[in-house]
Amino acid sequence: MDTKKLCILGSTGSIGTQALEVASHLDIEVDALCAHSNTKLLEKQIRKYSPKLCAVTNEDAAKELKVLVADTDCRIISGKDASSEVVTLSCADTVLNSIIGFAGLTPTIAAIKEKKNLAIANKETLVAAGSIVMEEVNRNGIRLLPVDSEHCAIHQCIGKNDHSEISKLILTASGGPFFGKDKEFVKNASPEAALKHPNWSMGQKITIDSASLVNKGLELIEAMWLFDMPVDKIDIVVHRESVIHSMVQYNDNSVMAQLAVPDMRLCIQYALTGTAKKGGLTPELDFAKIASLSFYNVDHEVFPGISLAKRSVKLGGTSPCIFNSANEACVDLFLNKKIKFGEIYELISYALDDLKPKACPTLTDILEADAAAREYVYTKAGK
Ligand code: NDP
Ligand code: MG
Repeated sequence: MDTKKLCILGSTGSIGTQALEVASHLDIEVDALCAHSNTKLLEKQIRKYSPKLCAVTNEDAAKELKVLVADTDCRIISGKDASSEVVTLSCADTVLNSIIGFAGLTPTIAAIKEKKNLAIANKETLVAAGSIVMEEVNRNGIRLLPVDSEHCAIHQCIGKNDHSEISKLILTASGGPFFGKDKEFVKNASPEAALKHPNWSMGQKITIDSASLVNKGLELIEAMWLFDMPVDKIDIVVHRESVIHSMVQYNDNSVMAQLAVPDMRLCIQYALTGTAKKGGLTPELDFAKIASLSFYNVDHEVFPGISLAKRSVKLGGTSPCIFNSANEACVDLFLNKKIKFGEIYELISYALDDLKPKACPTLTDILEADAAAREYVYTKAGK
């Protein structure tokens, strides 16, 4: 899938803005944009990239944007379903979905049904509804490529090798800002401290997920669906430098790793070019400067985010969706200083205990599980 025309969902975010840089670099036409409410940045993007369409999911913001870009040819559409509508209306061949959270699910499904190729950063889509998404991908014969750096690395390490030759996938984790801290420290950590990621500059939600290692739990489930691997064949190792982005071990115990400067533009370019290795924007690695690479086991006692993800997979059905949506509600509460960092784990765990999963879920079941998990967390937290 060498992208000619692109639709970017979540264009004002950390991945979205980098995707626009990559699109410029590769001379890809930007056909459509979508965001929630950042009208100032959307105006700049519309003037710079001249998309034909722009979706804004917040109605007030859409009204404001219509006035701001009245002198351009860009059509503004709005409403809570505008992120799916823009996918249907756009004549882009590829959709890059970098919307944050569960809100990315319906546009993902819309893109697949429209038979557009999909570059997916929105991992929550695969966690909440992996079976449905993969079934639609296969039915519609589209190409789905990961943007998440670990999954992009694994995709590169697998290359053309046969699935049966793989013995396990090894996801690397930076360990986040609380690496090496004890349980008491982590339990009471502040949003300000949690927002200081050592190696990556990202949106707020994924930065909190990286600090709690819930992100690695989400990525475990994401890898399960993308690479058709059972959870017990996916290991996680803490690698502080974020130079090795993930690895694949084969039956003969040889391990393939992908290394690069931590730079999401490399992963975005890989997905948009359909895995081609064109010259990009990422600088070279300086091995002498890096000098050494370190590895540690995950401390699951202090950071139970991965164990919770595994529990949700064992419970099956809508449980991974409950895991994801409970976490989204918890991150919102934590960022607004309504709960402590440690309560993120507690509330997700209670939600998995108390909400009965539905087996073989339909999309409606998933949407209901999402709403129930959020309501559960807000009620339980008393907010
Ligand atoms: P940001 O918070 O930086 O950006 C989120 C984007 O989604 C913004 O454009 C925002 O619009 C838009 N948005 C929010 N809610 C809605 C909605 N309801 N409908 C439509 N658009 C919406 O997030 P990131 O770029 O950090 O992350 C995006 C995705 O990529 C996540 O799934 C994350 O896990 C994944 N990812 C991110 C990485 C990174 O380096 N940032 C690395 C790997 C994966 P507005 O600005 O108007 O609010
Ligand atoms: Mg990642």
